[in-house]
Amino acid sequence: MKETVVIGGGPAGAAAAILLARAGRDVTVLERNSGPAHKVCGDFLSAAALQRLAQLGIDPMELRPARINAVRLIHGNKAAARPLPFPGIGLSRRALDEALLREAARSGADVVRGHTVRAVSTGGSSIDVDGGPLAGSVLLSTGKHDVRGARRAAGRGPFIGFKTYLALSRAQAEALRGYVEIVLYGGGYAGLQLTEANAATLCLLIRPDQVAPMASWEGLLDWLRAACPHLAIRLAGSQAMLPRPLAVYGMPYGWVNRPVPSDHPRLFRLGDQAGVIPSFTGQGVTIALFTAKLAAQAILSGWDAWNYHRALRAEVGALIRRTNRLHRLLSCAAAQRVLALGCQFCPAVLGLAEAWTRSTGMRRHYSSSTELAHPWT
Ligand SMILES: Cc1cc2nc3c(=O)[nH]c(=O)nc-3n(C[C@H](O)[C@H](O)[C@H](O)COP(=O)(O)OP(=O)(O)OC[C@H]3O[C@@H](n4cnc5c(N)ncnc54)[C@H](O)[C@@H]3O)c2cc1C
Repeated sequence: MKETVVIGGGPAGAAAAILLARAGRDVTVLERNSGPAHKVCGDFLSAAALQRLAQLGIDPMELRPARINAVRLIHGNKAAARPLPFPGIGLSRRALDEALLREAARSGADVVRGHTVRAVSTGGSSIDVDGGPLAGSVLLSTGKHDVRGARRAAGRGPFIGFKTYLALSRAQAEALRGYVEIVLYGGGYAGLQLTEANAATLCLLIRPDQVAPMASWEGLLDWLRAACPHLAIRLAGSQAMLPRPLAVYGMPYGWVNRPVPSDHPRLFRLGDQAGVIPSFTGQGVTIALFTAKLAAQAILSGWDAWNYHRALRAEVGALIRRTNRLHRLLSCAAAQRVLALGCQFCPAVLGLAEAWTRSTGMRRHYSSSTELAHPWT
């Protein structure tokens, strides 16, 4: 019987596998993608994520990311910019996730690619994955995708997320360099930034009723160009780098897992399976890595999943709920206009919004150079 099975080899699952394997645990990672794959993600890595990656022994700078020092908020013909207090990077998820999985294998985890888990079942004290019983824990880290028998108690959100890569014209790539741009448009927003090899990530949220009249991705891009003069300028002369965009629907932004005593004691939810922070914050990977650290600490100390989930909720629940309120404002056409005006006349408003998206709780854990005792002891 396997000891610990990690379902899903994204940032949360791979990071947990690294930590558990290094501690001598028998860990198997089951990842459905058989090789490197693109993911719907804005590709922004915050300073906190970089710090956590460094603690895992991964240096993303070796992957030649784009450095991001500032944020620019755009609405119509208004723009406001501000330096980030802690610089981040633009790195494709394809490159990041592969680096993490490689490190998991190097650390001793058994990484199985091309394996899609169909079901998890729990009964009494037993737990099994696709009918195979386990002696140890299951770390559910399948991101946006629920697994039969262990679905999240989360509703579906109203947005479709699209992502593509573009080769911008040289002048536009230079104008974008160093910035993450957040472009607001009626009812949604887009993120644009450079990643490695100067590929620009365009990631956007839009409601299905807005997309419905557009017959194609090109139609959606035309609509965006008309709605946002800034995007029209950025995208002029650009070349698509993917044959078609990636899409995901119904992200339950603002949801945080609420543990109950009847939860299975050996089923640990990680990353987006534990809580979903709105995309604009660029903190999803940070939280995924944080959940990996907490879960590994909990398992190594013999804590059950309920205690882990309670600790996690205490650490990130307020941040996720707070940023979700800001996300709702950003997605409301009237509030977008007020926010853009506020930021234009008083750029400090942008700083306030940025500060709102950071967690004092997690920073406590990240800022220590030594491994921390359990945050909940
Ligand atoms: C539009 C959008 C933009 C975003 N932008 C950013 C950003 O710029 N910066 C940021 O930090 N965060 C961003 N996020 C959030 C970030 O993408 C997620 O929070 C993060 O990917 C969560 O990591 P994870 O490991 O939990 O899940 P994932 O990264 O989704 O990884 C899950 C893994 O599980 C695998 N899997 C799924 N089902 C199965 C199965 N049944 N069996 C086996 N394997 C399975 C998948 O193939 C995948 O590799 C964004 C999210 C969206 C939707």
